[in-house]
Amino acid sequence: MSAAIALRQAGHEVAVFEKTRAFNRVGADINLTPNAVFAVDRLGVGDVLRETAARPTFRISRDGETGEETSRLPMSSAAEEKYGAPQLTIHRSDLLEALRDKLPEETLLLGRAVTGVDSGATSATVKFEDGTEETFDLVVGADGIHSAIRTALWGEDHPKYTGMVSYRGVFPKDTAPELPDLDAFTKWWGEIPEKQIVVFPLTGGKEIFVFSTLPQSDWSEEGWTLPGDVEDLRTAYANFHEDARNILDCVSDVTRSALHVRDPMPQWAKGHTTLLGDAAHPMVPFMAQGACMAIEDAVVLARALDGATSADIPAALARYEEERKPRTAQIQESSLANEWLKKGSNADWVYGYDAWNTPVT
Ligand SMILES: Cc1cc2nc3c(=O)[nH]c(=O)nc-3n(C[C@H](O)[C@H](O)[C@H](O)COP(=O)(O)OP(=O)(O)OC[C@H]3O[C@@H](n4cnc5c(N)ncnc54)[C@H](O)[C@@H]3O)c2cc1C
Repeated sequence: MSAAIALRQAGHEVAVFEKTRAFNRVGADINLTPNAVFAVDRLGVGDVLRETAARPTFRISRDGETGEETSRLPMSSAAEEKYGAPQLTIHRSDLLEALRDKLPEETLLLGRAVTGVDSGATSATVKFEDGTEETFDLVVGADGIHSAIRTALWGEDHPKYTGMVSYRGVFPKDTAPELPDLDAFTKWWGEIPEKQIVVFPLTGGKEIFVFSTLPQSDWSEEGWTLPGDVEDLRTAYANFHEDARNILDCVSDVTRSALHVRDPMPQWAKGHTTLLGDAAHPMVPFMAQGACMAIEDAVVLARALDGATSADIPAALARYEEERKPRTAQIQESSLANEWLKKGSNADWVYGYDAWNTPVT
């Protein structure tokens, strides 16, 4: 939807085909760092996001066992001054609703599952599950980590399971008033990369979101919101500092999902079709950049296509890819290494990216 909004702003006609039949209020948080908030501000959705989001005061790293603080970045107004936008932590559904409200209703076509694409020299034809087809000047596969468009372009290549399962839970802030730093984004680092607890405010600070991970050798379930057992977390994190254990004690219900990755792709586009977001560069969430990268992609793609006619599309897609591939590959790899901001405090290369002005030549 970010790409659709940005492309409409650049004067193009768009249609968004979504396999889901209805938008339901599922999922949990999304942490939008200043680079993404800066990008969505010019899409006209930033003000609405600020109404329900929280603005973490700091980004803090702590050693899980000792509680020692190893990094602290001022966020909120300090980030706004430095990067032109704050960090916003928000419910996923609020982000989706804000984006949807910027698109005319007739451009968003629900219940239209795509099975593939034929990408030719002058156009691309989308194939739908119901057997119909439609031809466009450009097709953008923004269909997530299991992208049907990616498979149609580049062949079957299953995402790799990382051996980690993520757990997510929320608790009301007023049930734990004595816990420190609940208005900040804090990451408690474990003794192995598969262990961490991340805590930050949601819903204007009224709720506290908790993200954690556990190693698990295999995974065969399907789903983003499978129920988990918080006791599994409490047992695995029994060696953590008291403040971190107290956070887990506040959570009663958790959902579980597996973490999958793919390697950076050598090429995204073929003919009149390209990829965007997780379809092109899925990553583990340890830098909280997956959705942020999808939003940056959207802005840069629309800028590359500004004023383009159908004949200009392959060259415009090459410019988009040239600008976006190195950055997204670096963030995929850095997320997987899971060392970012453990120590030190220079986040400029991530938070300072300006999708609206980076050269797209
Ligand atoms: C536990 C966890 C926490 C995360 N936290 C953060 C965070 O804090 N900040 C952040 O920036 N990122 C975060 N991410 C990453 C982020 O969720 C993804 O990177 C982001 O959702 C990718 O957006 P996307 O639009 O590319 O794909 P998706 O969000 O996967 O959207 C793809 C859409 O395409 C639709 N679709 C799929 N297949 C088809 C088809 N065949 N036909 C039609 N429609 C189809 C889907 O229904 C869906 O609506 C997190 C990820 C995980 C797993």
